[in-house]
Amino acid sequence: MKIICIGRNYSEHAKELNNPVPAEPVFFMKPDTALLKDNEPFYLPDFSNDIHHEIELVVKISKAGKHISQEFAKNYYEQVTVGIDFTARDLQQQCKEKGLPWEKAKAFDGSAPVGTFITINHSEINTLPFHLEINGETKQVGNTTDMLFSVDAIIAYVSKFVTLKTGDLIFTGTPAGVGAVKIGDKLKGYLNNQLMIDFEIK
Ligand code: ZN
Repeated sequence: MKIICIGRNYSEHAKELNNPVPAEPVFFMKPDTALLKDNEPFYLPDFSNDIHHEIELVVKISKAGKHISQEFAKNYYEQVTVGIDFTARDLQQQCKEKGLPWEKAKAFDGSAPVGTFITINHSEINTLPFHLEINGETKQVGNTTDMLFSVDAIIAYVSKFVTLKTGDLIFTGTPAGVGAVKIGDKLKGYLNNQLMIDFEIK
Protein backbone atom coordinates (compact mmCIF):
# COMPACT_ATOMS: atom_id res chain seq x y z
CA MET A 1 0.00 0.00 0.00
CA LYS A 2 0.97 3.61 -0.36
CA ILE A 3 0.16 6.75 1.56
CA ILE A 4 -0.73 9.84 -0.44
CA CYS A 5 -0.74 13.18 1.36
CA ILE A 6 -2.26 16.46 0.28
CA GLY A 7 -0.46 19.67 1.21
CA ARG A 8 -1.94 23.14 1.70
CA ASN A 9 -5.58 22.04 1.58
CA TYR A 10 -6.82 24.52 4.20
CA SER A 11 -6.15 28.19 3.47
CA GLU A 12 -5.53 29.15 7.13
CA HIS A 13 -2.76 26.54 7.37
CA ALA A 14 -1.18 27.61 4.06
CA LYS A 15 -1.10 31.16 5.46
CA GLU A 16 0.50 30.17 8.77
CA LEU A 17 3.43 28.65 6.84
CA ASN A 18 3.57 31.60 4.41
CA ASN A 19 2.65 29.35 1.50
CA PRO A 20 0.42 30.50 -1.37
CA VAL A 21 -3.03 28.91 -1.64
CA PRO A 22 -2.64 26.40 -4.50
CA ALA A 23 -4.66 26.46 -7.70
CA GLU A 24 -4.64 22.65 -7.88
CA PRO A 25 -3.97 19.99 -5.21
CA VAL A 26 -0.39 19.50 -4.04
CA PHE A 27 0.45 15.90 -3.20
CA PHE A 28 3.38 13.85 -1.96
CA MET A 29 3.78 10.31 -0.66
CA LYS A 30 4.96 8.38 2.35
CA PRO A 31 6.08 4.72 2.18
CA ASP A 32 4.34 1.92 4.10
CA THR A 33 7.17 2.05 6.67
CA ALA A 34 5.74 5.43 7.77
CA LEU A 35 2.53 3.80 9.02
CA LEU A 36 1.93 3.60 12.79
CA LYS A 37 -1.16 1.71 13.97
CA ASP A 38 -2.87 0.50 17.15
CA ASN A 39 -1.90 3.60 19.17
CA GLU A 40 1.76 2.64 19.07
CA PRO A 41 4.06 5.36 20.47
CA PHE A 42 5.97 7.67 18.14
CA TYR A 43 9.70 7.89 18.84
CA LEU A 44 11.14 11.33 18.16
CA PRO A 45 13.89 10.93 15.55
CA ASP A 46 17.32 12.40 16.22
CA PHE A 47 17.65 14.09 12.81
CA SER A 48 15.18 16.88 13.61
CA ASN A 49 14.65 19.39 16.41
CA ASP A 50 11.22 20.46 15.20
CA ILE A 51 8.78 17.60 14.56
CA HIS A 52 5.33 19.09 13.97
CA HIS A 53 1.90 17.50 14.37
CA GLU A 54 -0.59 17.86 11.51
CA ILE A 55 -3.94 16.22 12.23
CA GLU A 56 -5.76 15.20 9.05
CA LEU A 57 -8.79 13.28 7.87
CA VAL A 58 -7.52 9.99 6.41
CA VAL A 59 -9.48 8.15 3.72
CA LYS A 60 -8.95 4.45 2.96
CA ILE A 61 -9.32 3.45 -0.69
CA SER A 62 -11.67 0.46 -1.03
CA LYS A 63 -11.38 -0.28 -4.75
CA ALA A 64 -8.63 0.08 -7.35
CA GLY A 65 -9.07 2.85 -9.88
CA LYS A 66 -7.38 5.17 -12.35
CA HIS A 67 -8.78 8.32 -13.98
CA ILE A 68 -11.65 8.32 -11.49
CA SER A 69 -14.15 11.09 -12.18
CA GLN A 70 -15.12 13.29 -9.25
CA GLU A 71 -18.74 12.26 -9.72
CA PHE A 72 -17.90 8.59 -9.07
CA ALA A 73 -15.11 9.09 -6.49
CA LYS A 74 -17.46 8.13 -3.62
CA ASN A 75 -17.50 4.56 -4.96
CA TYR A 76 -13.81 4.25 -4.09
CA TYR A 77 -13.92 4.74 -0.29
CA GLU A 78 -16.10 3.76 2.64
CA GLN A 79 -13.92 4.26 5.69
CA VAL A 80 -12.16 7.21 7.26
CA THR A 81 -10.25 8.08 10.41
CA VAL A 82 -7.87 10.77 11.56
CA GLY A 83 -4.10 10.51 11.38
CA ILE A 84 -1.06 12.64 12.06
CA ASP A 85 1.20 13.74 9.21
CA PHE A 86 4.36 14.18 11.28
CA THR A 87 6.67 16.65 9.60
CA ALA A 88 10.29 17.56 10.33
CA ARG A 89 9.62 21.27 9.84
CA ASP A 90 13.30 22.25 10.10
CA LEU A 91 14.33 19.78 7.37
CA GLN A 92 11.32 20.73 5.25
CA GLN A 93 12.30 24.41 5.44
CA GLN A 94 15.85 23.57 4.32
CA CYS A 95 14.51 21.49 1.41
CA LYS A 96 12.11 24.26 0.36
CA GLU A 97 14.86 26.89 0.41
CA LYS A 98 17.01 24.72 -1.86
CA GLY A 99 14.09 23.80 -4.12
CA LEU A 100 14.56 20.12 -3.19
CA PRO A 101 11.90 17.44 -2.62
CA TRP A 102 10.53 17.20 0.96
CA GLU A 103 10.76 13.41 1.30
CA LYS A 104 13.16 13.24 4.23
CA ALA A 105 11.00 15.74 6.13
CA LYS A 106 7.78 13.82 5.52
CA ALA A 107 8.40 10.15 4.70
CA PHE A 108 10.45 8.97 7.68
CA ASP A 109 9.58 5.88 9.74
CA GLY A 110 6.52 6.28 11.93
CA SER A 111 5.55 9.62 10.39
CA ALA A 112 2.00 8.48 9.59
CA PRO A 113 0.07 7.33 12.70
CA VAL A 114 -3.54 6.47 11.86
CA GLY A 115 -6.54 5.83 14.09
CA THR A 116 -9.34 3.27 13.97
CA PHE A 117 -11.26 3.39 10.70
CA ILE A 118 -15.01 3.88 10.75
CA THR A 119 -17.55 3.57 7.95
CA ILE A 120 -19.21 6.85 7.00
CA ASN A 121 -22.15 8.00 4.93
CA HIS A 122 -20.84 9.71 1.84
CA SER A 123 -23.32 12.52 2.46
CA GLU A 124 -21.28 13.53 5.55
CA ILE A 125 -17.84 13.59 3.95
CA ASN A 126 -17.81 17.36 3.41
CA THR A 127 -19.03 18.26 6.91
CA LEU A 128 -16.82 16.18 9.20
CA PRO A 129 -15.39 17.94 12.26
CA PHE A 130 -12.13 16.72 13.74
CA HIS A 131 -9.63 17.95 16.31
CA LEU A 132 -6.37 17.20 18.07
CA GLU A 133 -5.70 17.43 21.80
CA ILE A 134 -2.22 17.34 23.29
CA ASN A 135 -2.02 16.70 27.04
CA GLY A 136 -5.71 17.59 27.30
CA GLU A 137 -5.40 20.93 25.47
CA THR A 138 -7.04 21.45 22.06
CA LYS A 139 -4.34 22.33 19.52
CA GLN A 140 -5.98 21.95 16.10
CA VAL A 141 -9.62 22.12 15.07
CA GLY A 142 -10.76 21.35 11.54
CA ASN A 143 -13.80 20.60 9.45
CA THR A 144 -13.74 19.04 6.00
CA THR A 145 -16.09 21.79 4.86
CA ASP A 146 -13.05 24.13 4.88
CA MET A 147 -10.98 22.00 2.49
CA LEU A 148 -9.86 23.81 -0.66
CA PHE A 149 -10.18 20.49 -2.54
CA SER A 150 -12.81 18.00 -1.35
CA VAL A 151 -12.10 14.31 -0.80
CA ASP A 152 -13.80 13.51 -4.12
CA ALA A 153 -11.83 16.21 -5.95
CA ILE A 154 -8.59 14.86 -4.46
CA ILE A 155 -9.37 11.29 -5.58
CA ALA A 156 -10.15 12.52 -9.09
CA TYR A 157 -6.99 14.60 -9.28
CA VAL A 158 -4.51 12.10 -7.79
CA SER A 159 -5.88 9.17 -9.83
CA LYS A 160 -5.00 11.01 -13.05
CA PHE A 161 -1.34 10.47 -12.16
CA VAL A 162 -1.25 7.46 -9.83
CA THR A 163 -3.42 4.32 -9.85
CA LEU A 164 -5.18 3.98 -6.51
CA LYS A 165 -5.27 0.49 -5.03
CA THR A 166 -7.35 -1.11 -2.30
CA GLY A 167 -5.89 -0.23 1.10
CA ASP A 168 -4.09 2.92 -0.03
CA LEU A 169 -4.50 5.82 2.39
CA ILE A 170 -5.01 9.48 1.58
CA PHE A 171 -4.10 12.13 4.17
CA THR A 172 -6.23 15.07 3.11
CA GLY A 173 -4.36 18.05 4.56
CA THR A 174 -4.20 19.81 7.91
CA PRO A 175 -6.02 22.84 9.30
CA ALA A 176 -4.19 25.67 11.10
CA GLY A 177 -2.54 25.24 14.48
CA VAL A 178 0.43 22.99 13.67
CA GLY A 179 3.25 22.97 16.19
CA ALA A 180 6.10 20.96 17.68
CA VAL A 181 5.72 17.83 19.80
CA LYS A 182 8.03 16.75 22.61
CA ILE A 183 8.79 13.58 24.56
CA GLY A 184 5.98 12.72 26.96
CA ASP A 185 3.23 14.45 24.97
CA LYS A 186 -0.04 12.53 24.81
CA LEU A 187 -1.92 13.03 21.54
CA LYS A 188 -5.62 12.32 21.10
CA GLY A 189 -7.30 12.71 17.72
CA TYR A 190 -11.08 12.97 17.39
CA LEU A 191 -13.45 12.67 14.46
CA ASN A 192 -17.03 13.84 15.10
CA ASN A 193 -16.00 14.11 18.79
CA GLN A 194 -15.26 10.38 18.81
CA LEU A 195 -11.77 9.35 19.97
CA MET A 196 -9.99 7.66 17.05
CA ILE A 197 -6.30 7.73 18.01
CA ASP A 198 -4.56 8.02 21.36
CA PHE A 199 -0.78 7.69 21.60
CA GLU A 200 2.35 9.06 23.20
CA ILE A 201 5.56 10.71 22.01
CA LYS A 202 8.64 8.87 23.31
ZN1 ZN B 1 -0.03 17.34 6.11
